[in-house]
Amino acid sequence: MTVSKTTAGPVTNPLDTAIAQFEAAADRLNLDSGLRLMLGVCKRELTTNFPVQMDDGSTKVFTGYRVQHNLARGPAKGGIRYHPAVSLDEVRALAMLMTWKSAVVNLPYGGAKGGVMVDPKALSLAELENLTRRYATEISILIGPSQDIPAPDMGTDERIMAWIMDTISMHRGYTEAGVVTGKPISVGGTVGRKGATGRGILYLIRELSREHRIPLDGATVAVQGFGNVGGVAATLLADEGARIVGLSDSSGCLYNGKGLDVQTLWRRKREGASLSDMGGGDRLNGEELLSLPVDFLVPAALAGQITAQTARHVRAKLIVEGANGPTTPEGDAVLAEKQVVVVPDILANTGGVIVSYFEWVQDLQFFFWEEDEVRERLHKAITRAYREVCALAEKESVSLREAAMLLAVSRVEEATRVRGIYP
Ligand code: NAD
Repeated sequence: MTVSKTTAGPVTNPLDTAIAQFEAAADRLNLDSGLRLMLGVCKRELTTNFPVQMDDGSTKVFTGYRVQHNLARGPAKGGIRYHPAVSLDEVRALAMLMTWKSAVVNLPYGGAKGGVMVDPKALSLAELENLTRRYATEISILIGPSQDIPAPDMGTDERIMAWIMDTISMHRGYTEAGVVTGKPISVGGTVGRKGATGRGILYLIRELSREHRIPLDGATVAVQGFGNVGGVAATLLADEGARIVGLSDSSGCLYNGKGLDVQTLWRRKREGASLSDMGGGDRLNGEELLSLPVDFLVPAALAGQITAQTARHVRAKLIVEGANGPTTPEGDAVLAEKQVVVVPDILANTGGVIVSYFEWVQDLQFFFWEEDEVRERLHKAITRAYREVCALAEKESVSLREAAMLLAVSRVEEATRVRGIYP
């Protein structure tokens, strides 16, 4: 396979990891060499260096990307990231990951990702809007409701999605709500999107609790990361009677064997406080949190947290990966040896993209659903995918992570194959 990289980066280049994961699945599926070449590279890549007028009258040039990995199953879908460390290889890796994520939960999408090398916090609101509208214009040749539908990611939010939607709508002369998801509800967003990834984790933990006969009422849980994913998952689990004994954010960790008062902590977190300012538990360090003897561990913060080193100390029975890539391949091997069940990120954190899909469907139909309907459909989509992955894992005697990749790659492979090569 020949995939060119833009940098001769370290071994942990995210594109190397993404390709290694794909190749492992391709080997097992015995993909023919043509399909391997097609699925192993990104189909379309746009790099743009674009000017933005700053508040002090100066002009700065920013670099942005939009990459589409594969479009065999439908329009491309994937977030836009604003971060100083955005690189073309990272965007390619994330676009590839989006193809597999959409396929594993059977959404009619291919994968894409975008990003701008910028620290959004260093910009004024006017500069952020100028940058967003110009970037949206630069990528407007690729995006659209039938082509490629961006969404928020690290450093971007619903306000930025509204600006992108408005910019594209101004160009086209009519409101194009379905061009992005993750919008405010007032301009075609959907109810139930904000907490969707955390809610998806709740639905998966319910399945696991039934299967492994660990009643959720009274089950012990540790959650790393107290943001959109971890905070929502922790509060929903606590609502169902689970004891959240450990919680962390970037400021520190809290532990209480009797269960933390998650509702109060979450309210204070949303008011702007950090866990280090809050009481109700003892202090732990990050490694101690990961090694708590709990029924469920939910890493929902950063990538690369469960390494060979930290995995040795993990005492959780089941891990549900809220974050993207929280377990390194070496960490994964140690967990497998210890027979810890891991629900992998490409399945576990798809609640957000599933509800993004619902938002797009509603925008296309100009018909909006009640929150109950969103939740019910999310539940159906994620639990069906989970059961399909479990069945494949059992049939092939592989881990849930390998099974999820096999299911995803085989779906994309089939769509690519039956469509054939044009002309
Ligand atoms: P967020 O910014 O809302 O929250 C992240 C949380 O992690 C914050 O509480 C932060 O303080 C904490 N954190 C940062 N460094 C930490 C550390 N070293 N130890 C412990 N906690 C730390 O982000 P989010 O939207 O909740 O996303 C979390 C992860 O989930 C990311 O990997 C993201 O890519 C992934 N993800 C998010 C979504 C989504 O819908 N938001 C969907 C799929 C995947």
